[in-house]
Amino acid sequence: MSETLFIADVHLNHQRPAIMHLFLQFLATRAKQAEALYILGDLFEVWIGDDDDEPLSQNILTALRHLTDQGTYLYVMPGNRDFLLGQTFEKATGCTLIADPTVLEIYGIPTLLMHGDSLCTLDVAYQTFRSQVRAPLWQQQFLAQPLTQRRQLAQQARSHSNAHTHQSAAKIMDVTPSEVLKAMTHAGVSQLIHGHTHRPAVHSLTLAGKPAYRKVVGDWREQGTVIISCTMGGCQLINYGRF
Ligand code: MN
Repeated sequence: MSETLFIADVHLNHQRPAIMHLFLQFLATRAKQAEALYILGDLFEVWIGDDDDEPLSQNILTALRHLTDQGTYLYVMPGNRDFLLGQTFEKATGCTLIADPTVLEIYGIPTLLMHGDSLCTLDVAYQTFRSQVRAPLWQQQFLAQPLTQRRQLAQQARSHSNAHTHQSAAKIMDVTPSEVLKAMTHAGVSQLIHGHTHRPAVHSLTLAGKPAYRKVVGDWREQGTVIISCTMGGCQLINYGRF
């Protein structure tokens, strides 16, 4: 049976080796058997450029390359943490980088894929930051700095972002319902799959009088995560890990 998998928010980093282990296991088993794997943003907790020589990144690159060599199609959407993923990463892993948003048909169902951060419009401070770091000139200037300096800057941005998340109301950190309807209507889809909010769920909506669905994958934790599995029968949330 052919299966297409969706995950997001693995947030790989040194401080969480158990998650790295779980992710490698996922690649070697479930993902290996799938037709395609879509990673919808924030695979890495931070990505300071494709020229990063950290051993963690190298291990992951090798594992992803192994997956694509074995025949699974791999699509990676940059998230708000790893928006600097580029062509060198693409070549090294054999993946295809996809834009946010991307529209495609999954087993006949028109589907919109997003990381999810662009839907959280009530977080004005974050949206300002987002448009700044997505600007080509900003990225050029950042990538022109030495790795040590980029690491420092990324560390500062992370503590800033964590403090902001703790201070903000839960509503602000979730998607804006009207933005969801706007994005889905514009894309002409009945299904949206995204991550980022760390609130895995299936939300039933009505779009132009017809049923529509917003499906959210979970973030990765020591004990596991929530992934989306699509087959000819549709797309379902399932638990993956040591539950
Ligand atoms: Mn995110």
